[in-house]
Order: sequence, then structure tokens, then C-alpha cells
Amino acid sequence: MLKITLATGNEHKVEEINLIARDYNIQFVLPVGEFNPIEDSDNFLGNAYCKARCASESQITELYLADDSGLCVEALNGEPGIHSARYAPTAKERINKLLGVMKNIDNRKAHFTCAMVIVDKNAKILFQTQQYCHGEILREEIGNGGFGYDPIFYVEEEKKGMAQLTSEKKAQVSHRAKALNEVLKWIKDEYVQSQNK
Ligand code: IMP
Repeated sequence: MLKITLATGNEHKVEEINLIARDYNIQFVLPVGEFNPIEDSDNFLGNAYCKARCASESQITELYLADDSGLCVEALNGEPGIHSARYAPTAKERINKLLGVMKNIDNRKAHFTCAMVIVDKNAKILFQTQQYCHGEILREEIGNGGFGYDPIFYVEEEKKGMAQLTSEKKAQVSHRAKALNEVLKWIKDEYVQSQNK
């Protein structure tokens, strides 16, 4: 079993990622010790790298995976984007703020972005990818699943609200699932092969 440190303090994220990766012989684990990355980049990949580099300082596994994600709204020039987590103090307030800002906006197009970066113990980037889940901002909350902005996000591909999807379905269509699948493919096809040489 290949152990990989997932550069996050969020247990929910580890569970979501372990669910997507369940058919691979990989276990994602939380960082050991202090994990307080400074995310000072102006883009998702840069911030994912800040987290991966910080986690790699623990040196407990060979690989460190970090992600950075957010909701980008076309009519708001991509906002809240990299500021999604800090757009307002609580998840409920973030949703209400966005619904308020978009009250009179007809263009509801939006996408979730997820950047993933994998580094080694020396913080060297081995692989990176950025993936999307396209949809629209709903006018009111719908569904009981998921977290964050899920209740106001309509998933184009599924013709349903993100919070109406089962965790299994979200694990197929989400921005994080798509990015993780690219990472898993790289681990299986390139990393594991290079270790076996
Ligand atoms: P993080 O970089 O993955 O921690 O995500 C930053 C913020 O983007 C989160 O706090 C959420 O507000 C939002 N976000 C990211 N992914 C999702 C998702 O799958 N559903 C709903 N909100 C999300």
C-alpha cells in the first residue's frame, strides 16, 4: 500500500479523496505535526504548491499531494475563485453573499476549479494538473449533500444540484475527482513504473 500525505487539515477532504481512490492501492493520510501553509499565490496551482511544500517538511512519506479549489463565476470575472474559502465567515454566509451579489445577474455560468500538485520530500514538483466541473449558480439552495457552495451549484453534466448528488456520483463528476483521476493515472502509469525499474 502506497501512503501519500494529503496536504490538508480537513478530514472531510481525506475521506472524499480516499473514496475516489478506493480502487487503487493508495492510502491518503493527514500531515503529521504542524501544518500551517502560507498561501500567497494569485492562482490555484501556486497555492496548491504552497501547501504541498509545507506538508513535505514532515518527510514522513515519499509523496505529498495538495489541492486548491474554488468556485469561479463568469459574470464576476472568476470571483470568488482563490478567495472562495474566505469570501465570508461561514459557509451559510458565503452562500447568501454570493446569491445577493448575483441577484440581478442573468449570466449564471460558473465552474469549480481544482488544482493538484504532487511533490517529493524535497518539494520538487513531480506532477500537476488543473480540472473543472461546469455548471450554473442556482437562485436558491437545493439538496442536502456535499459542503461549501454545493447547495447553490447546478452541475451541467448531471442536470442536478451538486448537493443533490450521492457521494459516489460526486466522486465521479467533481472538479476534485477529475483532478485526482489524473494524479492517480500518473502514479500508476509513471511513478510506480519508475520505482519498479
Ligand atoms: P479548498 O482549496 O479545497 O479548501 O477549497 C476552498 C473553498 O472552495 C472551500 O472552502 C469551499 O468554499 C469551496 N469549494 C471547493 N471545493 C468545493 C466543492 O466541491 N463544493 C463546494 N465548495 C467547494
